[in-house]
Amino acid sequence: MNFDRLETLPISRNEFSSLELFKNVQFEKLAGFLLRCSVQTVEKGGTLINPEMHTRALYIVIEGSLNVNLESDNGGTFEHEITKGHCVGEMSIFDNYPPSATITAKEDSRVLVIPAATTMSMLSASHELCLNFLQIMSQRLRQDNKIVCEEQYHIRCIEENAKIDPMTGLHNRRWLEEMYTREMNRSNMGNFKLTAFMIDIDHFKQVNDTYGHLAGDKVLISVAQALIRSLRPSDMPVRYGGEEFSVFLPGTTEENAKIIAERIRRNVENMTITLHDNNLLQVTVSIGFAERIENDTVASLIDRADKALYHAKQNGRNRVCQNKDNINFLIR
Ligand code: GH3
Ligand code: MG
Ligand code: MG
Repeated sequence: MNFDRLETLPISRNEFSSLELFKNVQFEKLAGFLLRCSVQTVEKGGTLINPEMHTRALYIVIEGSLNVNLESDNGGTFEHEITKGHCVGEMSIFDNYPPSATITAKEDSRVLVIPAATTMSMLSASHELCLNFLQIMSQRLRQDNKIVCEEQYHIRCIEENAKIDPMTGLHNRRWLEEMYTREMNRSNMGNFKLTAFMIDIDHFKQVNDTYGHLAGDKVLISVAQALIRSLRPSDMPVRYGGEEFSVFLPGTTEENAKIIAERIRRNVENMTITLHDNNLLQVTVSIGFAERIENDTVASLIDRADKALYHAKQNGRNRVCQNKDNINFLIR
C-alpha cells in the first residue's frame, strides 16, 4: 500500500522521518498505526495537558516546542522544555496515573497524538522505536537529574547563607544552635574536653555615640577578624548578637583556654582600627569562659561563661575571667 497517498494519515513521510523518535524506523512498519493518530495544534501559551485531564496518550512535537511545568505539594516548581521530535505523556501510559504536569506551548506548535493502546502496539512492532524511545528518556532523565542537583546546590547555598552574619562573616545564632548542640552531644558522649567563651566589646555604645554607627560596624568587623586570627580552625566563633561573640573550643582544657582567651584579649587591645575618616581607634574586650561539666547543655555552659563575663565587666573590663564550679576567678 502506498501510504503517501492516504490523505487520512496525520503526518507525511517526510515529517515522520524528521522526528528523532522515528529515527531508523521504517515508515511502512508504523504507517498503519498512524491512521489511528491525530494531529493537535496548540497556540503559543495554550494548554496541551494538565493534571485535571484524564487523557492517556503519547504526544510528539512535530513543530514548535512545549513547556513542562511541574508543581510539587510543598510549593516547589520544576520546568523544562520539550523540543521537536521529543515526547510527553509516556509516564501516564506506563503507570496509568493522570498527568502530573501542566504542558503548554512555548510557541505555536503541532503535536502528534498517539493513543495509549496504539503507542503500546507501535512499541511492540518496532525494535528501533523502542531504542529511540529509551534513548530520549535517558537523555531527559540525565538532564532532569542535573537540574535537580543544581536546584539542591542552590538551596544549600541559601541555607548556608542564612547561618552567616553578613557584616562580620562569622556564623550566627541559627548556626550556633545546630553546631554547638552537635558538639555538646559529642563531648558529653565521648567525655571530651570543651570550653565556651563569651566575649563582649567594652564601652561599645560610646564608640557608636562618639564616632557613629558606621565606625561601630568597622569595630565589629575588626574584632571578628582579631578573633579568627587568635583561634584554631577547629574553634567555633559566632556573632552571638550585637557586640557579643561566643566561641566553642572543642578539645580544649581550661589551661589552654586561659592562654587562648588572654591571646584574644591582647590581640584586640593591641589592634589599631582605621575608621572611614582615617581616625584611629582602639577598643578592648572582656571575656568569660567555662569548661564543660557532666550533663551540661549548650545553654548551661554558655550561662556559666556569661556569668564569668559579667564578673570581668564588674572588675574593670579588658579582663579574662573563668567560671569554675560557679565561682568566678579573674585570670587578669
Ligand atoms: P559594656 O562595656 O558594659 O559592654 O558597655 P557597652 O556600651 O559595650 O554595652 P551596651 O550593651 O550598653 O551597648 C551595646 C551597643 O551595641 C548598643 C547597640 O546600639 C550597639 N550595637 C549592637 N549591634 C550593633 C551593630 O550591628 N552595629 C553597631 N554599630 N552597633 C551595634
Ligand atoms: Mg553587650
Ligand atoms: Mg559591650
